[in-house]
Amino acid sequence: MVSPGVNWAGNIRYTARELLTPTTLAQLQEMVCTAERVRVLGSRHSFNDIADSPGVLLNLAELRQPVAIDPAAATATVGAGLRYGEVTPQLEAAGFALPNLGSLPHISVAGACATGTHGSGSGNRNLAAAVRSMEFVAADGELVRLDRDEHPAEFHGAVLGVGAVGPVVSLTLDLRPSFQVRQDVYLDLPYRELDAHFDEIMDAAYSVSLFLDFRSDTVGKVWMKRAVAPGEDWQPEPTWLGARLAESDQHPVPGQLPDSATPQRGDIGPWNERLPHFRLEFVPSSGLELQSEYLLPRGHAVRALAGLRPLSERIAPLLQVAEIRTVAADELWLSPAYQQDVVALHFTWVDDTPAVRALLPALEAVLDPLEGRPHWGKVFTTPPGRVRELYPRMADFVELVRRYDPDGRFGNTFLETYVY
Ligand SMILES: Cc1cc2nc3c(=O)[nH]c(=O)nc-3n(C[C@H](O)[C@H](O)[C@H](O)COP(=O)(O)OP(=O)(O)OC[C@H]3O[C@@H](n4cnc5c(N)ncnc54)[C@H](O)[C@@H]3O)c2cc1C
Repeated sequence: MVSPGVNWAGNIRYTARELLTPTTLAQLQEMVCTAERVRVLGSRHSFNDIADSPGVLLNLAELRQPVAIDPAAATATVGAGLRYGEVTPQLEAAGFALPNLGSLPHISVAGACATGTHGSGSGNRNLAAAVRSMEFVAADGELVRLDRDEHPAEFHGAVLGVGAVGPVVSLTLDLRPSFQVRQDVYLDLPYRELDAHFDEIMDAAYSVSLFLDFRSDTVGKVWMKRAVAPGEDWQPEPTWLGARLAESDQHPVPGQLPDSATPQRGDIGPWNERLPHFRLEFVPSSGLELQSEYLLPRGHAVRALAGLRPLSERIAPLLQVAEIRTVAADELWLSPAYQQDVVALHFTWVDDTPAVRALLPALEAVLDPLEGRPHWGKVFTTPPGRVRELYPRMADFVELVRRYDPDGRFGNTFLETYVY
């Protein structure tokens, strides 16, 4: 019997009694039908117990479906257990790209889509918004296919589905033509410039991330990922809004070596090697950490930051780095960006659960009145009733789940607390 062990961060020990690894769809369907309670474990990168199950957990990595690219439709169908780092080189080799990626290529496609994982960029939606159709196994063992055009209502509920409708077997993703990206980093952008020019800064490149440590009155690093047209010869200014162009490679987290970060200083290359911050062959981020994140209507960004600054003395000692990103609106019912452009305020904390959980209510007291929705896969203390209130389609989602899982076979403590 294989025990599921712990999550990537080591802060969650899964309580499921066993981790099963089906190698065929038929095996998976049988496991779903015979288990009393069952969920899927992705690449374990969530920081809370969203993936856990009171029964068994399934690892779908051995289903080993190939990546099937349809050039005429500009789609790729990918096995749900695959990680972005396994999928994207194949898309690039075929001349295609995904619109955006999260900060790391290590995460599974299905796990990322299930939790609303996102990158940055004013015109970029979260990763689940690239899904065109999905196949999953419902609680009765049937393979269900939902398509964005054929079943719009159910589809928009199920894609960002927090694992609740059943094991996702494959996802068909929209592709765009491959493109080249360069990364440039500016150092020490004064807060006053951020407050005065928030939109200009976040719109300055295809994807912009701001890294700050709440220890000074500057944003330490402005991380720009610029899409470069063929033959374009664009060069960054040496200074911009009071910030200066970095002359050496950087890592988003202060004190970490830049070797594990993707190429910078204007080195132009494929989208899949520049949109993530971290390289696949290295441990991403700092490796010893907790993460929290709140996504709120973009227009509240400057007010939220002003509200958090008085907490700097409490935030700074527990913080490795904070990151500010923007995400464009989508139509997915449980998306923090449902029908509104959002700003994402992310915190990479030190690995100290009691201290972080003691601090979070103070942050949430600032962000909650601004409708800050916690990231589904990270650490938060927002009261369950408030989480439900923040999602106008939550009742529809629960009804949808009941259709595919009438007896709660795919439920767990997290869903019972925050969704049902
Ligand atoms: C270092 C680091 C950096 C991160 N960077 C980002 C970032 O840039 N942006 C961001 O938004 N988030 C980020 N995250 C959070 C991360 O993307 C999410 O937690 C995401 O869910 C991870 O995917 P996973 O496969 O590891 O999911 P898991 O944690 O394994 O599972 C998450 C959920 O997905 C469900 N699930 C997984 N596979 C399936 C399936 N096949 N069928 C049905 N349900 C399934 C699980 O049941 C569970 O409910 C980061 C996390 C880490 C550790």
